[in-house]
Amino acid sequence: MAYSYDSENIFAKILRGEIPNDTVLETEHSLAFRDIAPKAPTHILVIPKGAYVNFDHFAQTAPEAEIVDYIRAVGEVCRQAGVEDDGFRLISNAGRHGVQEVPHLHVHIVAGRPLGRMLAAD
Ligand code: 5GP
Repeated sequence: MAYSYDSENIFAKILRGEIPNDTVLETEHSLAFRDIAPKAPTHILVIPKGAYVNFDHFAQTAPEAEIVDYIRAVGEVCRQAGVEDDGFRLISNAGRHGVQEVPHLHVHIVAGRPLGRMLAAD
């Protein structure tokens, strides 16, 4: 599938500095910041700086250096947030069935309380 990227999405605006964010980590190719509507005591979003719609788009087309940087950034944020002992959940929603609200790849890191089962049954 060929993805088309909407450069007016809210995370693109954050990357351009048009909208403020609460940054927790910035690397050469990635940015991590707190979710504006946290669902748990720790709720951090990690995004690549490149224009990728979702995980599949990124995995198919990003240079290896960006992929390595991004995966390492997710791990680094977990360690910085101190959630590796009690645990955490990574979520990356994509498309209509994934109920993706912002069409720029992001991983949610949620942690800080027991998170319940992975999905509701409905
Ligand atoms: P999605 O449903 O696309 O996986 O998640 C999008 C996430 O982005 C939501 O958890 C939402 O709270 C968060 N979000 C939406 N707009 C903003 C914003 O302007 N700033 C920040 N920090 N988070 C946002």
